[in-house]
Amino acid sequence: MRLPLRILLTALLPIQNLMAAGVHQHGAAQLDMVIEPPLMAISFSSPLANLTGFEHRPSSDAEQQSWDDTLAQLQRAEELIQLSAEADCSLSRVDLHLPFTAKSRIQSNEHEHEHEHEHAHDDVSQNSHADLMAEYQYLCANSPALKVLQLPLMQRFPAIELLEVQMVTPSGQHQRTLTAKQTGLQLP
Ligand SMILES: [Zn+2]
Repeated sequence: MRLPLRILLTALLPIQNLMAAGVHQHGAAQLDMVIEPPLMAISFSSPLANLTGFEHRPSSDAEQQSWDDTLAQLQRAEELIQLSAEADCSLSRVDLHLPFTAKSRIQSNEHEHEHEHEHAHDDVSQNSHADLMAEYQYLCANSPALKVLQLPLMQRFPAIELLEVQMVTPSGQHQRTLTAKQTGLQLP
């Protein structure tokens, strides 16, 4: 079953527009979430510098390694976002929106999902800033049990000091700001 992530995320359009307007602050990242049972979509956006340490195409072996590691890490959603087990959610799709095309040495791994793919937008010139967005889509058999989200992603990417969270849940729209020490997010 293909799930209409784009449709879900239209609820977050004002937020997306805000991002497009150029909110780009090193040390800060953004997590947008829509829960519309049985679907749940999470969009994680960050300045690339928080993830890889640079914001241009990898130009050395060390940068290439960091780039490959970052993309592989972003595919392993379960190491970044942990959902209440009782909610019985399964990850149905991962989309990475990359700021530019860059070679990746990663061929495949066991965590790959059927509909996973990557988009690159070659509209970034050298010496400018760049953002990366990862979208995760879940199908939850028991959505009401979604009470807490654990977010080890800030430990995986320690350059992120602040995580701005926007949620659209059955109870309405909510906003939170998490620091690196707060890894648990209560879902209203
Ligand atoms: Zn930047």
